Amino acid sequence: MTAAGFLLSARGVRKAFGSFVALNSVDFDLPRGERHALIGPNGAGKSTFIACIAGQLPGVEGSILFKDREVARLMPADLARRGIGRTFQISRAFLHMTVLENMASAFVITSGRWASLSRSVLKEAEDRALAMLGTIGLSDRLETPVADLSLGDRKRLEFGMALAGDPELLLLDEPTAGMSIKERHHLMDLVAARVDETGKTLLFVEHDIDVVLRTAQRVTVMVRGAVLAVGSPQEIAANEEVQTVYLGG
Ligand code: ADP
Ligand code: MG
Repeated sequence: MTAAGFLLSARGVRKAFGSFVALNSVDFDLPRGERHALIGPNGAGKSTFIACIAGQLPGVEGSILFKDREVARLMPADLARRGIGRTFQISRAFLHMTVLENMASAFVITSGRWASLSRSVLKEAEDRALAMLGTIGLSDRLETPVADLSLGDRKRLEFGMALAGDPELLLLDEPTAGMSIKERHHLMDLVAARVDETGKTLLFVEHDIDVVLRTAQRVTVMVRGAVLAVGSPQEIAANEEVQTVYLGG
């Protein structure tokens, strides 16, 4: 935890792409155990901020402390070891593999034991994958190639894969994009339950304000690379400035 008791604490985070400043002096504090939504119009810098936390961008200025250690300049593998997890983009090569194979791969990769693969490592990964697929409700799709999954099931699998390393902080960038309303609520209720049960902390980007109100305990609104407002979902929904720039009210 940082000195002030936050799991994650960012100060003065700045990221430019060439001459374009995508993030400008962002301060952000995340208490342990919180479910926190990041919202704002397209291009606000939400994905860039998530990528900064996940150590995926070069040239990030400012400070991002996770458990009192600087994360902005770490490699992704180090982040997983430190306890930060984010959704896997299932790569093209893996789309022809089955749900079970993908989930087991996530366990092998996050275990850090892929350099010394053995039959017992694979067996353990498969056992853990079967358990996780049960938890996220994909037990009836074990042998389905990922390419043949419905969008909702694929998003659930990606969420399960993000959990494989048992991260303390879970970063989800638009986990419900493209889903039906029913699927969104279903997935995010699963996410919230899982986060609470296992004492994780969640930072997620979401466009659907109903999902935000339902899932987040606190909300940060970003506009043009800066934080406009932070508050409870109710405070944010009632904030006139937010309504003007974001909700179009
Ligand atoms: P959001 O997720 O809030 O929609 P992004 O963080 O993806 O916004 O993008 C913020 C701004 O930074 C956008 O104007 C986008 O075009 C720009 N941007 C993002 N990534 C890059 C990149 N790799 N190169 C150049 N510009 C980028
Ligand atoms: Mg984005």
